[in-house]
Amino acid sequence: MEQITKLLNENHRQIETPCYFYSVSRVAKNYKQLKTALGTELIYSMKANNDVDLLMRCSHHLSGGIEIASIGELNLVAGGNSEKYINNPSTDKKFLRAAVASRSTIIIDNLVQLKTLIEFIGKRPLKPILLRLNSCVLKQFNPDLPKIRPDQFGMDWDTVCQALDICQQNQIPLGGIHLFNGSYNFTKVAFETAKAALDIVNEIQRRYTSPLTFLNLGGGFSDNWQESDFDFAAYRHLLTQFPDNITIAHETGRGLMASAGFFATRIRYLKNIEQELIAVCDGGINQNFLLAQTENSFRKLKTPKLWSQSPHEATSACTYVGSSCSKDDVIGKQNDNHILPQVGDISIYSNCGAYNASYTLTPFLKLPAAKTYIIE
Ligand SMILES: *Cc1c(COP(=O)(O)O)cnc(C)c1O
Repeated sequence: MEQITKLLNENHRQIETPCYFYSVSRVAKNYKQLKTALGTELIYSMKANNDVDLLMRCSHHLSGGIEIASIGELNLVAGGNSEKYINNPSTDKKFLRAAVASRSTIIIDNLVQLKTLIEFIGKRPLKPILLRLNSCVLKQFNPDLPKIRPDQFGMDWDTVCQALDICQQNQIPLGGIHLFNGSYNFTKVAFETAKAALDIVNEIQRRYTSPLTFLNLGGGFSDNWQESDFDFAAYRHLLTQFPDNITIAHETGRGLMASAGFFATRIRYLKNIEQELIAVCDGGINQNFLLAQTENSFRKLKTPKLWSQSPHEATSACTYVGSSCSKDDVIGKQNDNHILPQVGDISIYSNCGAYNASYTLTPFLKLPAAKTYIIE
């Protein structure tokens, strides 16, 4: 935040709003800290933030590679030299071909995808593939796994067994398995997931007859995972039980990007509706869908920090609204302990680096997309 204040103090007229600020040093710090805490490889999930300028500036920090969910994402990073993982249940033949051509590791979601690979065999070198397992397999191997929301990703155990046969019969090299229990779930299920994975890996090695080399235990780290009291030391200790031939990885989007991003809008108008002060801003739900929290049944809106050309001490409650004519375009709220906004002030929201820009609806009303500024 200090960096942004400094930038605005020096250059506020040049900063176009609405905009995102992304901090390269914060991404680097988050990556290093999480990798150290886990003691494993760490893969970046690109869907959290696909800003190319940011990724180019950060790529040398993201040493564990990047997970890609579409051809569009692949095209953005195809030129780089990070390890690439391809993962999407809807991956079609064209995407699979592009994945093979770009020397990516393919994460197989279903048997049809796996069989499609057979025709590529022999034509091009295929990196050992990974099988995505549905979380129900974890539950099957470890009944102590805490309850998590079921999802549609990956394979159940019967399908895994068929996949192993298909790999064996067709000389498709198998690297290992890929797990993911959903966003925010890491602290809740990490230990039981790892315990289940130990048995699953052993059982797969027994059936497949050659050793696995790779295991992605998933992720689901929160925006500010550093503040959780999760016992990383005990978790690292548990992971020492895996055989040495297996490279263990985790994966994160949010844990890396959320705290590295800020969203900023300028206040265009102030008005009162009855007693309530409303700040009408030049951006909102269009450029930052998540900020409006329309997908949450209980909206707990964020309170922005204000940057002002003419700071003052007066305080007031206020509701911050966006530029879209949608009733749901309410992006921030403050109580009367906070500084009264003035027209021209810039309101800045923290923890907006993951999914805020990538999961949004800019084309509505032909409103402008947010600008992006990369800061050190
Ligand atoms: C989206 C996704 C992630 C990243 O989730 P975050 O909550 O951003 O950390 C990890 N693994 C898979 C398979 C995903 O689809």
